[in-house]
Amino acid sequence: MAAAQAAPPGVLTIRFLDVGQGDAVLVTAPTGQTLLYDGGRSESRMRELIRQYRVTRLDLAAASHGDADHITGLIPAIALFKPKLFLNNGIASTTQTYGRLLNVVGQAGTQGLLAREQVINLGAVKLTVIPPPPGMPKGDQNANSVGLLLQFGTFRALLTGDSETPETQAWLRKYPASFLGPIDVYKSIHHGAANGDSAAWLAAVRPRNVVVSVGPNNYGHPTATALNLYRKAGATIYRTDQQGTVTVTVQPGGKYAITTERRGTAAPSPATAPSPRPQPAPVSVPPASSVYYQNCAAARAAGAAPVRVGQPGYGKHLDRDGDGVGCE
Ligand SMILES: [Zn+2]
Repeated sequence: MAAAQAAPPGVLTIRFLDVGQGDAVLVTAPTGQTLLYDGGRSESRMRELIRQYRVTRLDLAAASHGDADHITGLIPAIALFKPKLFLNNGIASTTQTYGRLLNVVGQAGTQGLLAREQVINLGAVKLTVIPPPPGMPKGDQNANSVGLLLQFGTFRALLTGDSETPETQAWLRKYPASFLGPIDVYKSIHHGAANGDSAAWLAAVRPRNVVVSVGPNNYGHPTATALNLYRKAGATIYRTDQQGTVTVTVQPGGKYAITTERRGTAAPSPATAPSPRPQPAPVSVPPASSVYYQNCAAARAAGAAPVRVGQPGYGKHLDRDGDGVGCE
């Protein structure tokens, strides 16, 4: 196992953490301010990683969207470090995990920050929030992924969660290619799914290096389609399933180096891979009526307050004065 290693001072450190199938990106500014963009699917794995990389603070937690393979590991991180802000898409997921996340956000005194067009300064690192474009279906977490553009000197990294083609198409209409690219380090969309990255999107993003955050899964991630797109874009590909945690170190000015926890091994060929179980749908979105906020802190953390009668998540326990508007 890799030796414990804190992010060194004076440089920007971006770690694409090996969380198996899921995403978790730990960003430490040269002066120590820290962002965790997604936390992977396992609380115990995140605790291990926090120890391994000697994380001592968290200023900003961010959920690209509400799916469990992105938010579960945020729970122990927020409980432990009580970050000031929790950036999110404001769309409640109906899972127990999401409920627990909102509770821990409330308990930690962390302020919910609904994604909108804004810049957040993480020390000298500039984070530009790329909110979900208007018109995405509200029940679709992937299509409402929150993107982040990180800039430090000339260095640029782009993270866009599990955004699917309708969202990237809308972003392409909204942002000029000079904003979207070129990108030095780019996180593969949706673990290399076939419905994530597209030729048109990558033509704007122009990634030099692509990190695929992926682990054993039954979805076929990363797909040959996505990997071929990255190759055609001329990008160097890194994979957390083969190389472990991928670390980018950026000097003031923007010069950067990429290292991996271990040397890559060849992926098992399909012929020798165990036969997959029938493929579950990659995303399961229960009906919106089962959205539940335990309290107003949770509703506010989700960016859902005030919540009106008839809206997802409304409940009498949130509406003490009974006027049909909860968490006013
Ligand atoms: Zn995912």
